Amino acid sequence: MYQRTLARPISFTGIGLHLGSKVNVTIRPADADNGIVFVRTDLPDHVEIKADVENVVDTKFATTLGHNGAKISTVEHLLAAFLGLGIDNAIIEIDSSEVPIMDGSASPFVYLLRTAGIKVQNRFKRFLVIKKPIKVSDGDKKVILAPLKGLKITYTVEFDHHLISRQSCAMEFSNGVFEREICRARTFGFLKEIEVLRANGFAKGGSLDNSIVLGDFRVLNEDGLRFPDEFVRHKILDSIGDLSLLGVPVIGHLIAYKSGHALNHKLIKKVVSNRKSWRLVKAADEVAETCQVPSFGLLGEVPA
Ligand code: ZN
Repeated sequence: MYQRTLARPISFTGIGLHLGSKVNVTIRPADADNGIVFVRTDLPDHVEIKADVENVVDTKFATTLGHNGAKISTVEHLLAAFLGLGIDNAIIEIDSSEVPIMDGSASPFVYLLRTAGIKVQNRFKRFLVIKKPIKVSDGDKKVILAPLKGLKITYTVEFDHHLISRQSCAMEFSNGVFEREICRARTFGFLKEIEVLRANGFAKGGSLDNSIVLGDFRVLNEDGLRFPDEFVRHKILDSIGDLSLLGVPVIGHLIAYKSGHALNHKLIKKVVSNRKSWRLVKAADEVAETCQVPSFGLLGEVPA
């Protein structure tokens, strides 16, 4: 199990959800151990912002990273696509402060990364293996990372809306589950809240093409939902993007109840500071033998 990057660069254009403006992106291959690094090409000194928990500066509507005064927001769906395809190293050149929203899911990013191709590098992958449970909570919201021989996410959402109410979903990530079951789940919003966001200058680029919009009585998107439980699946997608900020794939069981970006980040920060609760393992034979399923990025799961 070696680290991976892209086989060749790929460029695309999209719309930023909050600013509503056109964004140009080029994703380039990067050296082993480089990690995922954003470069703001619209700024004079091309500020680099590494996708790392230390650089999280805001978690209000999306996950925003910042470094040296530069910011990049709505990174979570793209980061989930990297982790989901087992890509460890890439440089993302971007001429805006937000990643394009595309269709509101990670599916277009997965398609683009697959089109670029995936290259196996000559350095072992590393994994963060959870040894003791780590938990954070906020009122009735909670999220836990517990030991498990693989990556599993069990997520429960509860919304005071009859089309969602309570949804629970458990996924074990192996054999292409991310691409089949999770990457297509779109972000969602409630019409009433979107109107308030717009009035305050947010969600300018939001439309039925890039999110599920819930009216009082029905889903407003003509084609309906991609999965009956698309809402909780999108929350799993978001949490994968959040987990990727650990810098290496995690092996453990994430159990979330009514959690979101803010609480997920609180957990990830706690993981980083609780050095005795996990072990960093190189993907030599040791992982394969002791953990059986290193969740993401098995060669068999992603044809190069
Ligand atoms: Zn999302």
